[in-house]
Amino acid sequence: MNRRDALKLSVLGAAAVVTNGVAKENEAQKTSVAPLAHPLNGKARVAIIGGGYAGLSVAKAIREHNKEAEIVIFESKNVFASCPYSNLWIGGVEGTSYEELLFSPLEPAITYGYEVVNEKVIAIDRKAKTLTTLGNTYAYTLLVLATGIEYDYAPFGLDAEEARACRTLFPASYTGGEEQLTLKKKVENFTEGVFVITVPKGAYRCPPAPYERAALIASYFQAKGRKAKVVLLDPRDKPTTKSKGFLEAFAKYEGYLEYLPTSNITNIDLAKKVVAYDVFDVNTKQFVKQTLAFDDANIIPANKASALLTGAGLAVTSTGWGRVVAPGFQSVSDPDVYIVGDVLGEYPFPKSAQMANSCGLIAGEQIGRRLSGRDPRVGAELPANVCYSMVSPTTAIAVTHQAYLEEKSVKVKAELFENADEATAVATKDWYKGITASIFS
Ligand SMILES: Cc1cc2nc3c(=O)[nH]c(=O)nc-3n(C[C@H](O)[C@H](O)[C@H](O)COP(=O)(O)OP(=O)(O)OC[C@H]3O[C@@H](n4cnc5c(N)ncnc54)[C@H](O)[C@@H]3O)c2cc1C
Repeated sequence: MNRRDALKLSVLGAAAVVTNGVAKENEAQKTSVAPLAHPLNGKARVAIIGGGYAGLSVAKAIREHNKEAEIVIFESKNVFASCPYSNLWIGGVEGTSYEELLFSPLEPAITYGYEVVNEKVIAIDRKAKTLTTLGNTYAYTLLVLATGIEYDYAPFGLDAEEARACRTLFPASYTGGEEQLTLKKKVENFTEGVFVITVPKGAYRCPPAPYERAALIASYFQAKGRKAKVVLLDPRDKPTTKSKGFLEAFAKYEGYLEYLPTSNITNIDLAKKVVAYDVFDVNTKQFVKQTLAFDDANIIPANKASALLTGAGLAVTSTGWGRVVAPGFQSVSDPDVYIVGDVLGEYPFPKSAQMANSCGLIAGEQIGRRLSGRDPRVGAELPANVCYSMVSPTTAIAVTHQAYLEEKSVKVKAELFENADEATAVATKDWYKGITASIFS
């Protein structure tokens, strides 16, 4: 066994080191502090946790502004499967394919000169400036948290075991990969009955996505002439965003789409396929208990931030998302930790790939300049967003967001484009091709 392997084992803990001659070697190590398996190589190392839209954008921008730093992305998946554009494929929009969602992060890694480590980070030690994966410990100079979202089924009244079952039986498809493939099959095979889609409570990834998905699946059922109906359960009194545009679109799917606002799910019986929910009665101003039997479902739960944040003692908002010093991306708890993408909770930004990309490019520039001893120009540039939603196979609506500073606090100006048209549908496809090309080529 070489020194490096022995050190990996020391990370795994006592259970892994009691065989062969390793126990003796380990005994010797107990008396001294174990050196790092992956110390710094005489260069600054930026460790980025998460190789999604945010993390990959940060890596690219750092390299554009700093040629020397070692950049390492830690990503638990080994293929990038995009959420943007996935609703089009799931809803059977002509000309879309699953291949269009798939990318290899190794390609930009080769182009821009960074490394992708296919390991899940399980702990951060900010004092030692290290992060730990299942088998290794890595030192870092600066750390970027770009971990996206995790699912939280608790607001639906499901315990941990039920939550696992729910993800398997009725996948949210709110992250790329197997859930998308399964949801697509479910939609294709659904010949008749009620197909439930749920809108999450609280702040969640891509506010328009459940509405876009409902419209496209209803359009698919309609085009195929199926006796099938999408029932969209929403805890809000109207769609979270672009409400006029979505409600106008829903009206065109009469018989294929039923929108149930102010419907607050309290439990899901996974075996019987029944949703229990409280619905707000505007006349009595009270919640009334209801149940709905379904034949299949796309259960999208609430979203939450990775436990890595609180595990590392990083400050979070009252709802658990990462806090940073405005108008930049450094954690309020540690200037050597940056937080970008959906996991960020400081600003009134929607959780979108465009915002993750925009914030990632700005944060990456700040990091690159900082590591070169230059002014990081925090606040010189603020992020912007554009978010398109298809409401039929050929038409779309949109919203833009521009961040601005008002008395040192970051605000957002939104502009809505809610008259569905074909030009916006073309722009939707162009946007997707543009953002993925800018990250992956
Ligand atoms: C159906 C749908 C449609 C959407 N459409 C649009 C759209 O049209 N436009 C738009 O702008 N946005 C859209 N979005 C939103 C967009 O997908 C997200 O906002 C975007 O992915 C956020 O990027 P991120 O890098 O923060 O998170 P992600 O892209 O999810 O990346 C986070 C990565 O971190 C990794 N990770 C997490 N924890 C660890 C760990 N401990 N160790 C190692 N790796 C870890 C995860 O595996 C993941 O790959 C859509 C979302 C959905 C669900």
